[in-house]
Amino acid sequence: MISSGRHPKKEIADALRRADGAGLLVKQIHRGHRWGEVICTYCQARRSVWTTPRDPGTHAKQIDRFALDHRHPLPLGEDAPS
Ligand SMILES: [Zn+2]
Repeated sequence: MISSGRHPKKEIADALRRADGAGLLVKQIHRGHRWGEVICTYCQARRSVWTTPRDPGTHAKQIDRFALDHRHPLPLGEDAPS
């Protein structure tokens, strides 16, 4: 749930909304170049979100990739071979 504003770059704001919809935690930090981070509440993995990445489209894809990698359809330790 994003409570206090969106990311200024549309591509990244959209990716964060998708990550939020996928059940990941989107946390705003606003410290230095870091806008915040995306956290997998299941395995506690984190992915930094930059405020002004050189290529917003690529950064958005990295966030999408992180969300895809952390869908965790099965409990930890019981991942079926893909
Ligand atoms: Zn995870």
